[in-house]
Amino acid sequence: MQRRVHPTPEELGLASCHVCGLISKRLESDVGLLCPRCLSRLHRRKPYSIESCWALTIAALILYIPANLLPIMETGSLLSYRRDTIMSGIVHLWHTGAWGIAAIVFIASIVVPLFKLLALALLLVSVQRQSTWWPMQRMRLYRLVELVGRWSMLDIYVVTFLAALVQISSLATVRVGNGAIAFGAVVVLTMFAAMKFDPRLIWDPLRNENLP
Ligand SMILES: [Zn+2]
Repeated sequence: MQRRVHPTPEELGLASCHVCGLISKRLESDVGLLCPRCLSRLHRRKPYSIESCWALTIAALILYIPANLLPIMETGSLLSYRRDTIMSGIVHLWHTGAWGIAAIVFIASIVVPLFKLLALALLLVSVQRQSTWWPMQRMRLYRLVELVGRWSMLDIYVVTFLAALVQISSLATVRVGNGAIAFGAVVVLTMFAAMKFDPRLIWDPLRNENLP
């Protein structure tokens, strides 16, 4: 069977700008080549993509532990005092009948961050092993991780909303716990990790394969 060969830009002596998308001609002598249109530095692949993506993903995974174990919110009034971790907050919401909010908090603060971190780890392992396994599905997974990144702060909004609600409804005080700081760090580190990942690495081992 004849294999279709897809030449890559650098095989054609071209480089594409990852900021403005302009394709420019690359010369052998060019080391720190800049895009002639927007003056961004041109790279064949994002530099240190795998290394920095791993570092950020591992840092986020480590911080995921205090994010879940430390209190995310402390609420106190004359009659009661509560310290909630993410999970105890969800259980409390569930028991008070706020099932909808409990479900949103559970998905936004437990399911989504863990899904993103596991997806990034899977992408990194597959790219490091030069895997040719399901490239299209891995590409879709990467797009999903990027898309979800925009909604990751949802959980912080929920905490803020709850804090506002408590403050209006009673003579209560609300304090954001250290867990929330760790959680915010998880969200931000995961977003940076997804930005550092170069999806073109998925396709590199498939250069000489029949592409879909
Ligand atoms: Zn450019």
